[in-house]
Order: sequence, then structure tokens, then C-alpha cells
Amino acid sequence: MHDDRTLVESRLKRVLDERIRPAVYPESVPLEVGIWTAPGEPVPVAEGLAAPRTPIAVGDAWGAPWGTSWITVTGTVPQAWAGRTVEALIDLGFDANMPGFQCEGLVYRPDGTPVKGLNPQNQWVRVAAPAAGGEQVLLHVEAASNPVILDYHPFLPTELGDKDTAGDQPQYKLTRMDLAVFDETVWQLVIDLEVLGELMAELPVDGARRWDVLRAVERALDAIDLQDVNGTAAAARSELTDVLAAPAVPSAHRISAIGHAHIDSAWLWPLRETVRKVARTTANMTALLEDEPDFLYTMSQAQQFAWIKEHRPEVYARVQKAVAEGRFVPAGGMWVESDTNMPSSEAMARQFVHGKRFFLDEFGVENHEAWLPDTFGFTGGLPQIIRNAGSKWLLTQKISWSQINKFPHHTFLWEGIDGTRIFTHFPPVDTYNCSMKGSEIAHAAKNFKDKGVARHSLAPTGWGDGGGGTTREMVAKAGRMKDLEGSATVRWEKPAEFFAKAEAEYPNPPVWVGELYLELHRATLTSQAKTKQGNRRSENLLREAELWCATASLRTGADYPYEQLDRIWKTVLLHQFHDILPGSSIAWVHREAEATYAALAAELDALIDGAQQALAGDTAGGRELVFNSAPHPRSAVPAGGAAPAGSGAGACEVVERPEGGFLLRNGLLDVVVDADGLVASVVEVASGRESVAPGTRANLLQLHPDFPNMWDAWDVDQFYRNTVTDLTAVDALTALSAPDQAAVRVARSFGSSTVVQTLTLRAGEQRLDIDTEVDWHETEKFLKAAFPLDVHTERYAAETQFGHLYRPTHTNTSWDAAKFEACNHRFVHLDEPGWGVALVTASTYGHDVTRAVRDTDGGTTTTVRFSLLRAPRFPDPKTDQGLHRFRHALVPGAAIGDAVREGYRIGLPERRVTGSAEQVAPLVRLDNDALVVSAVKLADDRSGDLIVRVYEAGGGRARGLLTTSYPLAGAVPCDLLERPWDGTRGEVAVEDGAVRLALRPFELVTLRLSAAG
Ligand SMILES: [Zn+2]
Repeated sequence: MHDDRTLVESRLKRVLDERIRPAVYPESVPLEVGIWTAPGEPVPVAEGLAAPRTPIAVGDAWGAPWGTSWITVTGTVPQAWAGRTVEALIDLGFDANMPGFQCEGLVYRPDGTPVKGLNPQNQWVRVAAPAAGGEQVLLHVEAASNPVILDYHPFLPTELGDKDTAGDQPQYKLTRMDLAVFDETVWQLVIDLEVLGELMAELPVDGARRWDVLRAVERALDAIDLQDVNGTAAAARSELTDVLAAPAVPSAHRISAIGHAHIDSAWLWPLRETVRKVARTTANMTALLEDEPDFLYTMSQAQQFAWIKEHRPEVYARVQKAVAEGRFVPAGGMWVESDTNMPSSEAMARQFVHGKRFFLDEFGVENHEAWLPDTFGFTGGLPQIIRNAGSKWLLTQKISWSQINKFPHHTFLWEGIDGTRIFTHFPPVDTYNCSMKGSEIAHAAKNFKDKGVARHSLAPTGWGDGGGGTTREMVAKAGRMKDLEGSATVRWEKPAEFFAKAEAEYPNPPVWVGELYLELHRATLTSQAKTKQGNRRSENLLREAELWCATASLRTGADYPYEQLDRIWKTVLLHQFHDILPGSSIAWVHREAEATYAALAAELDALIDGAQQALAGDTAGGRELVFNSAPHPRSAVPAGGAAPAGSGAGACEVVERPEGGFLLRNGLLDVVVDADGLVASVVEVASGRESVAPGTRANLLQLHPDFPNMWDAWDVDQFYRNTVTDLTAVDALTALSAPDQAAVRVARSFGSSTVVQTLTLRAGEQRLDIDTEVDWHETEKFLKAAFPLDVHTERYAAETQFGHLYRPTHTNTSWDAAKFEACNHRFVHLDEPGWGVALVTASTYGHDVTRAVRDTDGGTTTTVRFSLLRAPRFPDPKTDQGLHRFRHALVPGAAIGDAVREGYRIGLPERRVTGSAEQVAPLVRLDNDALVVSAVKLADDRSGDLIVRVYEAGGGRARGLLTTSYPLAGAVPCDLLERPWDGTRGEVAVEDGAVRLALRPFELVTLRLSAAG
């Protein structure tokens, strides 16, 4: 037979595009349209409904950037349409090629009840089915003219990302505002032909099925009268019945589809707009659930539920009903889909505490899956946190975005730094916006790496970010692929149903140990430094506030600020969303984040001050107490307690060197700062060991050009290293004298920027503190601080949640080489047997570590560089411009335990309070420094019990005794939600009023301590 395949395929495309799709709405009449534009920010629904309208016509421009317009459409269903299905078609000026990221609307009835969302690929509103004829139609649309930030030419700098700079040019033109007859038979024919046409394109050309489908499609096209598509659509459909009824082969891949809309909690729009995006999408999805009995929808991020509960109660009522029916499924059990690289141990834990508790309190639902489709990499600390939250599964799609290495599994066990294993699935469909295209379904089946031992995968289905979620077309296509020869099978299933099946069919999945590093978006560890500092400051202040408020409550009976801490935690958790903390949002988001963090800091400082003063007593007592919030003693003050300041041991001196520069000494370290203001030598006095590699100088600031190929705020591409400028020119070098410290100040200028650094040795401290103040006015540059160290090692440690992980210093494999920029929390540590060095940081997450072998002596130089600042121009054209302050320290002779201790210290300054008390005894003490207290707080159930979270921080086994300064009645191991839990494998025993702990490497345990009497 002659091969006419391409002829039929081309015919299908043209007839669908030009004749069949336009016939879905065969008749229409225009609607009358009126508009009112709110003068500033969005207004309450009642105000928008009541505002006076002025006429506007199709073709007219509307919508200044970030504006809100209330658009009213009115019309009458023609009598001739009696018995037909009638829909309003409302095209606000959508670009249907982009499913989201543009204008959007929410449709209301005159009484203020919401109907559904309007989105680029979802422009219809059902008016009558069947129509009687003569119905009056009156609908209101709350239309948001959010500007397009990510355009066809992506990543161009734009001023549209902040309402302060966006101007007032209308962004859209009303396009179609009609009442129209909806011909369901033609619509079904479109779906039939799309499913078969897309399936056909994926089938092997030498297989019979492809040709069966081709001939059926040809017969259907023959059956259509192109001048009367509506009259012949049924006949065309009947030609397709047999090929659509042929069942899938037994070995077909099985896809669990779940309705989904990935809504970034802020990104190319401000937080306040996400509230409305969620309302529009959930209005859409609850409406679709009512229309489609097989459909199921899932939504993650408890924060987004809380927003609609507060701001759109009428939409929330529909969500509650659908959740109760088991068809709207809360997923993930986190407060937001956060970044996981940067949040602290406690913050990562609280993401789950607040997320899961919200779902339990609101819906009585407990999730067992962590749902993070879009997060930029996953730390080795996360598995234990997931398990301690009472969950057991992880879903993410993001690792498929890695630039270099293909991850070897789609379903596997992921093992964290402590040995916890989490059953993990990467959907092989490779998108969290599946639209049920045949190419996507076929890709999932072909791409699935666990074929032969597993058969199930998951497909999150629907448009996110203002796309409105799943469409009725996707549901219709899924229905045809339920059991279709040549296709994977598609069923709507809840995430938990998928995971249960996937786990059951795959008893021995492969294991991946350590972090899930994303080989992309590495610059999110550095961009928007002030947002990152605000996060870190808030985490530290929350630790202090919980500790001292709990102490004051137990000691003095002071009220514990439950509601306030709950609210502050939720605000901090929200800002850890995976486009806020990573610095990848528009200027508006980061401007607001900075202000929010400042307000939180003021509030938390007031809480800390109040609690410490209550503990210190009357200021008239005149005694100065030092409060130590860190988990280790310092200045003779116990951890978690307060005592008079001890006196610093040893003298400090600064000596001017004849060849220029200074020698700083404190009896523990001798530090040479040369004439260029660079650190030429750091010798540990006790061992005589030099830290700085011969022929190099440390604390060297280096400037690179930094213009990635895509994703400016997100990415740094490896070629940035090819060009570098060492900032060695010094403007001023000054010795600073104080009795208990030796310091020099170095001033430099470069480009349009200046930097002042203060290098300080303090009495009794084996640590060189480096305070940096940069007035940064560069464009597309990357600023690093380099520390070339004389250490021979193949790996280094970087702190993560509840421990640390190791990364190579070499680039043996493509996997090693791809980690050219990585995350640490508070320290990077490297050592040779018997001697190590740590670099600690108050708020810098990004760093790189490289190695070189010296020609001079054959020794190895291992260079650690902290990533201080970038200056990308998209999406915020002025990213990081202005004044920044950083604090780092070099700790020679440090073991891991020293790195842990100095990491806590750098973020938790001592606080001095005058009062009458002689001291404040800590509520709890631990007798082993490897056992580190992560949190001390009162129990969230307001029982008055004390919650203490402890982890083993050294990576070894640790035994210890936890004692309390009050009579202890009992200690119960708990999960993160403070529920009794026997999941810990370590030992927790109460003996003689104390708690004996034996923890395995990096194990964390949460204890609920009840007081006697
Ligand atoms: Zn996202």
C-alpha cells in the first residue's frame, strides 16, 4: 500500500485547527461590558461589586500593571437557543500560548458568590444547559492586570516587577466578550481527534496500531462535511469508537494522574497576588470537581489554604466540602513548598509541624508525603526531618532539570546523613504541569527508568501560577487514556494511593545516599543577600525568643507568647518559599520581605528583652548578666543560662611590620596582615601549624563577571570562573587598638563599589573574625572571598540541617564537577588527620571549594571561597545594590565540634542585661558537647510541658545525661508535632530525675519534659 501517512496527519492538523475547533461555538452574540478600575490595591469583593461601571468595548485597552478592574458583562440568551448549552466566553486579552503569568479573573455572581476563574486556557463560564431562551446574564469579573514578566524573550531586565516602577500603561485589550452556543458533540470530537492524533505520533511506524488509528482518523475526516461540522460531528465520532475502545496492553505503564496547579507563593507577582491566584484556581477546581465525577485534585502549602480561609471564605467553604468528600486532597504537609537548602534545622522541622498541624486541625487529614515538585535541591538532612514529622514519602520533579547528569532512578529510597531512608518518586513525565498531551504520556512511559521492576508513576496535571489548574479538556483526555491500546493507562488517583501502589510493587528499590543536588539554580544560594540575612536573623531570634520565654515562664510564671510565636514562625516559614529565600522573585517581593524581616526582628527583640529582664530581675539590682543562647558554654556562662561575664584570658597586640602591614597576636593565633591588607599567615601558636597555603593570601576578595545563559537570579554558569579580578589594591590599612582585641581595618574600592573589612583577634578566642561592609554598585558580577588553606583532603564538610555532609574537593566525575557551587549553613570544615580548620559564616550559604597542587613544595592547597554578592538584572533589575554587612570567621585547629560551636556562636551574640539576680540557671543541661540543643520551647498544646530537641552534631555516637534545673516527672520521646513517638532508634531513659540519651550519628530526638508537682 502506498504510504500516505504524512498526508493524513497534515490533513488532521488543518481540519482540526481551521474547521472543527472553531465549530465548538457555532453561534454567538456580543455581551455588554462595563468596567471600574480600583484606584490602588485590590478592594474587598463587596466594594468591587458595588462600584459604578463605565462602558468598554472589545478591542479597548485596560489594566495598568498590577491593577484590579471589576468588569461586568450583561446579555440575554437568544430565544432561538432554547435547548442548547450556552456559555459566556470572556477573553480578557489572554495569550493562549502562555497558560499563566499574565492577566487573570475570578467570576462572581451578583450576590458575590464566586463561580470560577478565568485563565488563558480557561475562558468559559457555563450559563445554561439546556437554555430556556431569554435568560438574563449578569456576571462580574475581578480582573487582575498582572504584567507579563517572563516574556517570549525571557530574562530581559524589566521595571514591571514592582508597582513603584511599573508605570501605568494598559497591558491588555479586551478580546472576546460573547454569549455562545457550546456544541458538546464537536467538543468531544476535538478531544477524540487530539488524543488519537497525539497517540499516533508516538507509536512506532512499523506497528499495526499506528495504522489502525491513522485509517480511523481518515474515515472520521471523510465523514465530516466541512460546511456543516456541527451536523456531521456525531458521524465522525462513530468512526473513532473502535480505535478508542481497544484496551491497553497488560504491560502498559500506569500513570496516577492528580489534578494540580503549582502556584508559587510569590515569584513574578507579590504575596498579595498569590492570595487571589489561589482563590481563582481553587474556585475553578472545586467547580471542575462538581462537573467531573472521576476527577481528583490536590493542593499543597497549608499557607495557601489559610489564605483563602481568611480572604475568600466562600471559596474556602467549597474547598472544605470537597476535602470532606475526599476529592480535594491536601498534599505535602508543609507550610509552604520551601527551599530546603537554606532553612535551618528548626525551620525545616517547623515547615512540617505547621503544615501538618493545619491539615489535621482543619480537615482531620494527615499527609505522609512531602510534596516539593519545584524545590531547588534537597539536603541530606531532610529525610530524617520527613520521618520525624510522621511522613514517609517524597515527591519532586525538579532534579530532572539538572544540566549535566541524568539521575538514574525515578523511584528509589533516598538515604539521608543519619541513615533515614525515604521512599521517593520523581515523576518521569518530567513536568509538574502535565496537560495530558500524548507526547507527555508517552514520554513518562519511555523515560521511566525502573521498567521491569515497577510500573507506576505519578503525573501532576494542570496549569499552575495563574493557569487555573486542570482543564476540562485534560480530564476528557485522561478519560480516553484510561485503557487505550498503545498508551500508558491514566487514572485519577490521590498521591497516597499512588505511593502505596508504587511501594507495594517495588520491595527492593535502589538507594541514593546523600543530598539530591540540583545541577542548576546554584546562584539562588547568594542572590538577594538581604532576604537571606533576614531569614537567618529571624531563625536565630526565634531560637532566643522560645528559649528565654520558656525559661521565664517556668521560672517566673510569665505568660508564654504562644499566638505571637505561632504567627511569627508562619511568617518566617512563608518567606522560605522556593522563590523568596532563593532570591528569585521580583523586586516587590524582596522589598517587602526586607521590611517584614525588620518588623519581625523588632518584635522578637522585644520578646527576648522582656523575658530576659523578667529573669534578671529589677534593674536597680545593678548586676550585669550575660545571657548565652548558644548550645555551648562561653565566657564562663552556661548554655541556655545567664551569669556575670567572665574576664577574657590573655593579652592581645597589634605590631606594625617593617615591610608593611601588621602582626596580630592573642597568644593563641599569630596573624600576619600584609601591606595589601591580605592575610598572609595564620599560625596556631600551640601547634605551630600554618593555615594559609604557602605563596597564597587569605581573605582575598575576587570579582568575576557573572552573566549566565538563562535564569539570571537563579544561575551561575561554570564559565564565570574563567575570568577573575583579585581585589588587592588597598585604600587604607589601619590598626585598631582595644584592650581585649587586636584588629586591623582594610578599605578598598573597585568598580563603583567600596568595601571595608575589619579583621579581629579577641582575647581567649582561637578565631579570626572578619566583618565585611560592602557598598555594592556592580552589574552582573560575582563577589567571592577566598581562603587558600594548606590542607590536603579529598573531601570537606558543610553544615546542613541536624548535621553535616561531605562533598569532594576534586572533580573526578561529572557528578563531582557539577557541584561547583554548593550550600552550607554555618560552617565549612576541612581537615587532615589530627588537624583541621573551619570557616564559619553568619549568613552566607553559597560557597565553592577547589584544590590545587603547588609547584613549589608539592603540597595541596584547598581553597574555600564564600559567595558574598551577585548583581543579576532579572527579575529584579537592581538586585543587591547598596550596603551589605557580612560576618565570617576563620577557626584554625578546629575539629568538627569546634566548627559546630563557632557556627552557633557567630549567629547568637551574647546579650547583657542589668538586674538583681546572681545568675539564671539553664532549664536543661547536657554533659556532652556532641549533643546539641536545637530548640527549647513550651509545648504547642499549652500543657506547660517543656519541649527540648537534641541532635548528635559530630557524626558519631554520643551518650549523655540531660539534667533539668527543676524537678522532672517524666520525659517522652516525641515526633516533631510533639506527639509521643517510638520512631527514634536511639536510647532515651529517665533515671534518677535525669534523662539518659544515647544517639547514633546525627540522630535527632524531641523530648517532652513534664515537671514534677
Ligand atoms: Zn515553583
